[in-house]
Amino acid sequence: MLAPTAHMLSHRVASMAVSATLRMAQKGRELRAKGYDIISLSLGEPDFDTPEHIREAAKEALDQGYTRYTPVSGLAEFKEAIQHKFKRDNNLDFDLKQIVVSNGAKQSIANICLSILNPGDEVIIFAPYWVSYYEIVKFAGGVPIVISADIDSDFKVSPDQLKNAITHKTKAILFSSPCNPTGSVYTMEELEALAEIIAQDDDIIVMSDEIYEFINFSDQHASIGSIPSMKDRTVTINGMSKGFAMTGWRLGYIGAPQWLAAACDKVQGQFTSGATAFGQKAASIALMSDLSPTHEMKKAFERRKKLVIELLSKIDGMKVNNPQGAFYLFPDISEIFGRTNGKTIIDNADDFCEIMLEQAHVALVSGSAFGNKNCFRLSYAASDDQLVEAISRMQKILSQYH
Ligand code: PMP
Ligand code: GLU
Repeated sequence: MLAPTAHMLSHRVASMAVSATLRMAQKGRELRAKGYDIISLSLGEPDFDTPEHIREAAKEALDQGYTRYTPVSGLAEFKEAIQHKFKRDNNLDFDLKQIVVSNGAKQSIANICLSILNPGDEVIIFAPYWVSYYEIVKFAGGVPIVISADIDSDFKVSPDQLKNAITHKTKAILFSSPCNPTGSVYTMEELEALAEIIAQDDDIIVMSDEIYEFINFSDQHASIGSIPSMKDRTVTINGMSKGFAMTGWRLGYIGAPQWLAAACDKVQGQFTSGATAFGQKAASIALMSDLSPTHEMKKAFERRKKLVIELLSKIDGMKVNNPQGAFYLFPDISEIFGRTNGKTIIDNADDFCEIMLEQAHVALVSGSAFGNKNCFRLSYAASDDQLVEAISRMQKILSQYH
C-alpha cells in the first residue's frame, strides 16, 4: 500500500513560493550550525532587543492574568492606543470598530486579501515589493499586476505607470513606504500625485503598508490614508515588529473602512482568533510611552546606512542609492553580470547571492524575490563590525571575478 504524498497538496499551496527571506535566513542558520562563519544580512529584523519597559509590561500583564482569549479584533486597551497613535503620528481618525489587531502585519495583509479578492481581481503591486505580497495576493485568488521602478528613479513608481496599469479589474493597490526591500520613502507630494489617479476610480482599495514608519531618516512619514480623497478607501497596515524590535511578539494591526475591518475580524475569527493577550497589553504601553528607544534604534540604523553606502560604493560594479528609510540597501549589480572567476559565472542576482553565501559566507537575498533581477537586498540591521567584515569579504571575492 502506498501512502499519500505531496501530490495530495492543493494547487493553491503547491504553486506557492517559499518566502525567500525566510529561506535565506534558514540557509544561513543551517550553514552556521555546520560550523561555517556565516554573516547573515538576509533577514529583515532589528538586531536590538525589545526595550525593557515593554518587556516589563508583558511580565506584569502575565501576573495580572492577561492569559486568556482576547476579543478577535484586539483588547480594547490596545485598540485605544492604536487609535491614539494613528491620530498622533498619521493624522488618521479611526473609530475603534475600524481597528483590527492581528498576529503580525503579515496576517493583516492576508486578512485583507482574503476579504476583498475574488478570482481574477487584479492587485497592482509596486516593485520592488516585499516578497510575501505577491504570494498572498495569488493565494487569495487575485492576480498580481506588477509595476516596477529601478534605482535611477529611487525605486519609486510614477503616477503615469499607475494610470497605465489600472483596468476595470483593478481591485486594490499594495505598496510599502518606507519600502522593503529598497528603503524608499514616498513623500506626501508623491502620494498626492498617486492619489489623484486612484481617486478617478470609485472601486479601488489602497493597502498602505507602513510597518517601517518609525525608521524614516527624513522624519516625514506620510500616510496616503490622510489624503481626504483616500480616507474611505485606504487600509493602513502597521505593526510592532520593526519600530519596537518586537518581531517575535507577532503583533500587527490595521485601520480600515468599517466594512473591511468587520470582514477581517470575521476571517481572523475563523483562522486564528485574537493575538496574544499579554503581548497586546505590553504593546499598548509601547505605543503610549516615550518613543526614545525607537528613536535611538533609528539613529543607529542611520549611522549604519551611511557606513554601508560608503563601503559598498567602493566596490567596482555596485550601484547604490541613498534610501530614506527601513534598514535595507538594494544595490544594482547588473554591471557585473557576465563576470567569471574561471570556474563560476555571475549571470544574475541569484548567482551573485549564491556565490556570496558559498564563497564569502555572507547571506543576502536576491532581488528576484522582490521582483527585480538586477539587484540584491542587504539588511544592515547588524553590528558595525559584522557589516564591515561582510562587505570586505564580498569585495575580496568579487575582485576575483573579471
Ligand atoms: N510588511 C513588510 C513590508 C515587512 O517587511 C514585514 C516584515 N516581515 C511585514 C509586513 C510583516 O511584519 P510582521 O508580520 O512581523 O508584523
Ligand atoms: N520582513 C522581514 C524580511 O523581509 C522578515 C522576514 C519575513 O517575514 O519575510 O526579511
